[in-house]
Amino acid sequence: MTNETTEQEKDCYVIWENCLRTIRENTTPEAFMTWFEPITPHSFDGESLVIQVPSHFFYEYLEAHFVNLMRKAIDVAIGAGGKLEYFIAETPPAENNKTADVPYTNLLKQPTNTQNNNTNNNQNQNTNNQTQHYNSFSREMYEHQKAVYATSLNKFYSFDNFIEGDCNRLARSMGFAVADKPGGVTSFNPLMLYGGVGLGKTHLIQAIGNHIIEHSAKKEVVYVSADRFTDLLIDALKNNKGDAFKQFFMQLDVLMIDDVQFLANKEKTQEIFFSIFNNLHLSGKQIIMTSDRPPAELTGMEDRLLTRFKWGVTADLKQPDLETRMAIIHRKLDERQQNLPDNILDYLVHSIDSNVRELEGAINSLTGLSENGIPVTMDVAKQIVEQIVQVTESKQVGIDEVQRAVAEYFAIGVDELKDKTRKKEIVIARQIAMYFAKEFTGFSLKSIGYHFGGRDHSTVIHAIQAVTEMIQEKREIRMYVEDIGKKFKSK
Ligand code: ADP
Ligand code: MG
Repeated sequence: MTNETTEQEKDCYVIWENCLRTIRENTTPEAFMTWFEPITPHSFDGESLVIQVPSHFFYEYLEAHFVNLMRKAIDVAIGAGGKLEYFIAETPPAENNKTADVPYTNLLKQPTNTQNNNTNNNQNQNTNNQTQHYNSFSREMYEHQKAVYATSLNKFYSFDNFIEGDCNRLARSMGFAVADKPGGVTSFNPLMLYGGVGLGKTHLIQAIGNHIIEHSAKKEVVYVSADRFTDLLIDALKNNKGDAFKQFFMQLDVLMIDDVQFLANKEKTQEIFFSIFNNLHLSGKQIIMTSDRPPAELTGMEDRLLTRFKWGVTADLKQPDLETRMAIIHRKLDERQQNLPDNILDYLVHSIDSNVRELEGAINSLTGLSENGIPVTMDVAKQIVEQIVQVTESKQVGIDEVQRAVAEYFAIGVDELKDKTRKKEIVIARQIAMYFAKEFTGFSLKSIGYHFGGRDHSTVIHAIQAVTEMIQEKREIRMYVEDIGKKFKSK
């Protein structure tokens, strides 16, 4: 290597650092960690900066989502004539024409581990060696254990029927990248998907498993919930089979643990999981987990496990927006070749917004009634929604409740809050009801508008602004709001 290239190598680090500064300022910490930290600068020739990315998927994702930001960063760091090129690390050197003479670097971060060095060394030698894979286990024994330890995947859960929206785009694309190329040279290991109840974690993790089984038939894939993992371990320990349990999980290619938060405060289980995790990770085997909260909030979990969860990537599943909710229920109905009237579907997506499972439950109940000859009217739909939302208490206060309380306070009818009357006292009552709906129900502006006679979300924004101003300017309005507010705050 000449002095010149060494200089240029140094340059590429400086320039990339400069780029990162711009990028960091213009993106979320999560996106920065996921998409920019795994990049290493590769070379710089005075004009083009070559950066090394872990995979083709990664490159495509950056180009699709961050192209303007990258342009800006290059403009700042190099100047307007600056260029950016990618070197994809997963391509073996011989196939990577552009940079064939550049030493190939494996981007998979191999963390140094001080605790399990002996086993890790052994395991590393076995990496990618299928014949050694079962060295101390017969195939038969393996299959037998698999039948006991693994939960079979639900074939119905696929990427195809997992509706994409802003709420899940990152998680879905990361999931797909892992499903397409589990383990190996990717920084998506472990993959941690997190999100609230009923938002599709189990669907997505099982879709990953199904995809791997379908496309990489040789991979040994096991899906198990953290709860079941714990029960199985307790059972194994009771029968003096703790080692066999551990060994079984250590020979997998893909380990999927659902609802990992249930390992909290279970020290022994965490200890065993820790050594399985290390072993798999160091041999480039894929680990996929779901959790109902981000790793940082997993209390009762050992720090050394949490640190390891951060080696890979995390992505969250958020509440789907209105359009995504509608697309999901249409898809579910199509799959079952069922249908419900449009106004009922509209009502459902505006009334159940925080949990797809609840939405599905409502559809199931209503199509069930309809199949038994009971007409699905709006009243029936309302009753069903009330039951579901009440049972799972996902909302502290419902919009109906807000409307009833406000109407009662002003001695008017609930219908008047929804109709087109422009009488001043009704308009004020309506605006106050919208204001409380926003404050207490957690519904989106669109859904609130829907429940007030199909009004636009901008009308709701206007109402909230108007009430906020009136509270400051008019004593009587301030009193109304305080009085009505007490009804909900005492809840
Ligand atoms: P979680 O494990 O997060 O509690 P699930 O994966 O069990 O949630 O999802 C609950 C239900 O909602 C499942 O029937 C699932 O198919 C459905 N669901 C959730 N998100 C989506 C989506 N984006 N597309 C299609 N179905 C979804
Ligand atoms: Mg689940």
